[in-house]
Amino acid sequence: MKSKKLGINSRMIHSGEFENQLGSATVPIYQTSTFLFENAEHGARCFSGEESGYIYTRIANPTINALETLVADLESGAKGIATSSGMAAVNTVYMALLSKGDHMVSSAAVYGPSRVVMEQHWSRFGVESSFVDTSNIEEIKKAIKPNTKLLYIETPANPTMDITDLKACVEIAHQKGIIVVVDNTFCSPYLQRPLEMGVDVVLHSMTKFLNGHADIVAGMIVTADATLGAKLRSIMVTLGCNMDPHQAYMVIRGIKTLGIRIERSQASAMKIARFLESHPKIEWVKYPGLESHPQHELAKKQMDGFGSMISFGVRGGFEAGKILMDNVKVCIHAVSLGGVETLIQHPASMTHSKVSAEAKRLAGITDNLVRFSVGIEDVEDIIDDLDQALQKVKL
Ligand SMILES: *Cc1c(COP(=O)(O)O)cnc(C)c1O
Repeated sequence: MKSKKLGINSRMIHSGEFENQLGSATVPIYQTSTFLFENAEHGARCFSGEESGYIYTRIANPTINALETLVADLESGAKGIATSSGMAAVNTVYMALLSKGDHMVSSAAVYGPSRVVMEQHWSRFGVESSFVDTSNIEEIKKAIKPNTKLLYIETPANPTMDITDLKACVEIAHQKGIIVVVDNTFCSPYLQRPLEMGVDVVLHSMTKFLNGHADIVAGMIVTADATLGAKLRSIMVTLGCNMDPHQAYMVIRGIKTLGIRIERSQASAMKIARFLESHPKIEWVKYPGLESHPQHELAKKQMDGFGSMISFGVRGGFEAGKILMDNVKVCIHAVSLGGVETLIQHPASMTHSKVSAEAKRLAGITDNLVRFSVGIEDVEDIIDDLDQALQKVKL
């Protein structure tokens, strides 16, 4: 036993258990679907659970297990369950924790597909849901019903950057026996560890910050309690939304630099947010690190840093947003976030172009909103790029 728990940067490099038979410096890729039994007796012991040997990769695999123990450690959780994608993690959580007749309260500004799959598909199996502004605790209290089983939070929210008070959520939910789940994709455990605040389950799209290199799609669920973890794992295994060993290897590799990537990108984000706030062609900027953010104080308490996601509004509405998109040269015009490259996106002309005006209003998406995921390039280059593209916007 180590007497002192290592810091998070050290654990990103050294956590994650695997049986290192040959003394390799990194976790090897066990690219295999199945595992040999020593004899019939050994096979029987593995299947009965008496022995924890590997059987089949959909159930467990040493490379994937190393990643699961690594992320569980970073999140201060008991158990990690790796999934093929972030959406696989979301659906595994919904399936494990909601049954026919149950109700979920969720942040309105969640990742779009997390809402769509609930309203269009889980509803077909008799699961009810309410989407509310969870940054206002009163809205959560009003939405809770006798059959509410799950409180599902994303904070900071996407793309409004509104922040939900996690400790307050836990207090309200646990009084009523409601399980609290947080999609921690925007922060990663480097900036926010919901399980340490009493939250029951955390999930990730590791496609974003954890992998961080825009070259892998992957998900993870971490539970505070091992029994709940076992329940979620059995759903993942029977659904078959497991990770592949190569995917796991790539994410382990990505996590090693999570700390330095975030430190760099959030320092740049602060400078970019200040630049935008003082720019005449910018109407508003939402970044938790700015004093003007309505929940700046809560962000300081709840998060270990303000992250690298910024939302802002360009003067000139929809057209101005499009002009900005068409003129950036360093920033990449694409969806997703949390990679080493700076990504810029205009929801009104892209991801939400087919969404009704009312639905956009409810999700906090205005026609001029631009979402910005700051990468690790030289910050001067990003600022110059934004500046020259904004010059093309005529007021
Ligand atoms: C991208 C994303 C997801 C979905 O993850 P995939 O890996 O694309 O399936 C879920 N939640 C948030 C907040 C995301 O940004």
